[in-house]
Amino acid sequence: MKTQARIALFEGHHGQVVLRELPLPVPAAGETLVRVLGCTLCGSDLHSFEGRRQVPVPTILGHEIVGEIIDQGPGSPREDPQGQSLNPGDRVTWAIVAHCGHCFYCLRGLPQKCQRGVKYGHEPLRDERSLNGGLASHCLLAPGSTILRLPPGIPLALAAPASCATATIAAACEAAGDLRGADVGIFGAGLLGLTACAMAHDRGASRVYCVEPSSPRRSRSIRFGAVGCESADQLSSLVQSSEVPPGLDVVVELSGSTAALEQALPLLRMGGTAVLVGAVFPGPPAGIVPEQIVRRQLTLRGIHNYSPRHLQQAVAFLAEAVGRWPLDELVTDWLPLEEIGRAFQLARDPARIRVGVVP
Ligand SMILES: [Zn+2]
Ligand SMILES: [Zn+2]
Repeated sequence: MKTQARIALFEGHHGQVVLRELPLPVPAAGETLVRVLGCTLCGSDLHSFEGRRQVPVPTILGHEIVGEIIDQGPGSPREDPQGQSLNPGDRVTWAIVAHCGHCFYCLRGLPQKCQRGVKYGHEPLRDERSLNGGLASHCLLAPGSTILRLPPGIPLALAAPASCATATIAAACEAAGDLRGADVGIFGAGLLGLTACAMAHDRGASRVYCVEPSSPRRSRSIRFGAVGCESADQLSSLVQSSEVPPGLDVVVELSGSTAALEQALPLLRMGGTAVLVGAVFPGPPAGIVPEQIVRRQLTLRGIHNYSPRHLQQAVAFLAEAVGRWPLDELVTDWLPLEEIGRAFQLARDPARIRVGVVP
């Protein structure tokens, strides 16, 4: 058995990571040691790597991770929330935040904001037990981690993003309310946007539109069941021509653009809901007309990360999505950990949706 873990360490020098070795820890009470099978690079990893986002350093980035259990500490979870047993050799995903279950925010239904939480891929490396990121050969899962056994039929390319992109979209869809018969506008056709198009369909949406200025990304959204729109203006003209009251029931903003939010709100019908997900970096303030929110009875919801139930919903969605939605094509490259620098370089190419790393 291996006694060393290999890690790609980000020390805060933008555009650089260094490979290091650490002694492999023995899991303590409540901990689970996994071997990393693959980790996809999320947009926020890229932002941290390039210095567009503050992250405590040194750190092991990477939080869209699939692993295989190799060792379980005393009292660590032996069953997942669906009642499936957890044993060495099992292929698993886990929620991005390990939560305590009894702090102020945990008790208010926001375990992702746990005051004692451990957020994978976002924690400083303090010692050899801080194996918290996916850009490594191993991860040490903290007590309070929600670990799910993955169905065997879900390939790595679909399973890796489950713990960030897919589960976040499950949380966004829940915030959007009942999607059966709804007309939905998705802003942005990255992995989150394309997943949102497919999930909205699976939840019974009537029509799904995807606003994306980049032509290759927009044309891909068509394969995820969306009507591709170059701009909000084009979407507006499409919904004007419908026979029912013009507009959308739901918009999901994934681009992070203030302008997109300003363009999205007027597209909503009476009683519509806007779910904001993309604005995870500081941007200019939005011009919003409060009277319009009041008279049109609009709901604005922000969604950041998710609760454990959303990861369960994400895995259930992915199990059904295999062969129905071309999600497997969205991870274009898999590189070894030794080529992590090149992996980040490839991930900067807007034509690539996700790049994966296999240690
Ligand atoms: Zn992420
Ligand atoms: Zn807590």
